[in-house]
Amino acid sequence: MAETMELTATVLDALKAAVGSGNVHTEIEKRMVYSFDSTFQNHLPDVLVKPHTADEAAAVVKIASANGIPLTVRGAGTCLSGGPVALEGGILMEMTAFKRILEINAEERYAVVEPGVVTNDLIAAAAGHDLFYPPDPSSSGMSTLGGNVAECAGGGRGVKYGVTRDYVLELQLILPDGQQITVGNKVDGLTGWLDLPMLFTGSEGTLAIITGITVRLLPKPEAIRTALAQYDDLDAAARTVSAIIGAGIVPTTIEIMDQMTIRAVENFLQIGLDTSKAAFVLLEVDGDSWEVEQQLEQVIAICKSNDAVEIQVAHDEAERAALWKARKSISGACGKINPTKIGEDVAVPPGNIPKMIQAVKQIAEKYQLNMVVFGHAGDGNLHPNIMTDKRNAEEMERVNQAIDELFTRALELGGTLSGEHGIGFMKAPYVLQELGREGYLAQKQVKDSLDPQGYLNPGKIFIEKELELCHG
Ligand SMILES: Cc1cc2nc3c(=O)[nH]c(=O)nc-3n(C[C@H](O)[C@H](O)[C@H](O)COP(=O)(O)OP(=O)(O)OC[C@H]3O[C@@H](n4cnc5c(N)ncnc54)[C@H](O)[C@@H]3O)c2cc1C
Repeated sequence: MAETMELTATVLDALKAAVGSGNVHTEIEKRMVYSFDSTFQNHLPDVLVKPHTADEAAAVVKIASANGIPLTVRGAGTCLSGGPVALEGGILMEMTAFKRILEINAEERYAVVEPGVVTNDLIAAAAGHDLFYPPDPSSSGMSTLGGNVAECAGGGRGVKYGVTRDYVLELQLILPDGQQITVGNKVDGLTGWLDLPMLFTGSEGTLAIITGITVRLLPKPEAIRTALAQYDDLDAAARTVSAIIGAGIVPTTIEIMDQMTIRAVENFLQIGLDTSKAAFVLLEVDGDSWEVEQQLEQVIAICKSNDAVEIQVAHDEAERAALWKARKSISGACGKINPTKIGEDVAVPPGNIPKMIQAVKQIAEKYQLNMVVFGHAGDGNLHPNIMTDKRNAEEMERVNQAIDELFTRALELGGTLSGEHGIGFMKAPYVLQELGREGYLAQKQVKDSLDPQGYLNPGKIFIEKELELCHG
């Protein structure tokens, strides 16, 4: 854990004047609680501040900028790449007080929210107006919209509906110099040549602080059907995913779980899952009633022709929830196996899912690691999760080698390091490998032009070692 940096009394007084003394904390207990996200790394912030308005947050930004103090922004802390961890200490600014849904405009089909709104609260509020907000990270009961935009979160419905960036219309931002600006608009028009909301979506708190978000909403689909196909062979399950996409069918969801995942969930929940099965594929289709029935038949036919041995179809909401229960519980279940869980999120073109799954299995075998694989396979997203113990240095060495190989294989298969969890600092050492020197420098130049001091979420995405490689 990083050493605590001395914050001068003047800086602390300025922060207290900006957000109120009750919202500034230097106590070790508070700082410890905010020293980690959902990865296994801890770094202590020097001070925790909790603004309640954009003006308060902008005042904090100006204090950090004027004093060259690192500033890291945090939503719910569910990040899986270290994004909201104050790697270099300094100020950690928590945004959960920004929790108002300001407008649901049913006529124009958009919602205006503050960044601390929990994803499921927006989904529920939209549903109350017969509208639909599709991005649904598996953490949607905890994650905030600010975190979702900053990470460009994906989710189970990505196959059909895309990811967060497909819904962001307008953002209220605080730039690193403290200036407050609005980018984008509510009518999805583009004035000027640069789509600025897209620049900031996925910027992981390194370019600006998000204080307001307008997202597009869709009409609620008329019908949803859900099915769970079970397999005696993991490769057959993986081939099913590629075959469905290859047939030009666009289901809402195609999730895959391997046998180790099924066993972990059954151990955790005791709900009678058949742990002898090699894999499950969870499928969902939505749309008009007639279209949905037709699509369900088509995907079931493809499952059968790819050797599914059992297929369950949900007939009501309770049965649907039962089919989803295992998928929704994976993270908690895996967390029970070993003290340290490392969740990766490589993505490959869906046609390469069978090869990527084979690669995960070979890598687990080669390095003798407990590794499960599951994920939003329909859009190529796989989550190899390694269950280990960070206190075991010898095993951690093998873990690091396995991760190197996972990324290399994903890139060889035309994929990416991060389907949806972002880069943070956990994947920063691998960015150059994917972007190449020119691509890396192009992105770094954008960062440098907006944040020349480099104090906004330092140590994330761009790291000095990588830069030396670039310049060397
Ligand atoms: C069990 C589990 C399941 C998950 N499933 C998925 C999934 O299916 N799909 C997926 O994409 N992710 C998933 N995640 C990862 C995580 O939930 C997402 O990345 C989510 O978007 C993070 O939101 P948060 O509010 O927790 O943000 P945090 O973790 O607090 O922060 C994430 C990043 O956003 C930045 N940030 C937060 N708020 C702001 C703001 N207001 N302005 C600027 N920057 C900000 C932070 O600096 C940080 O870099 C999962 C995580 C867990 C623990």
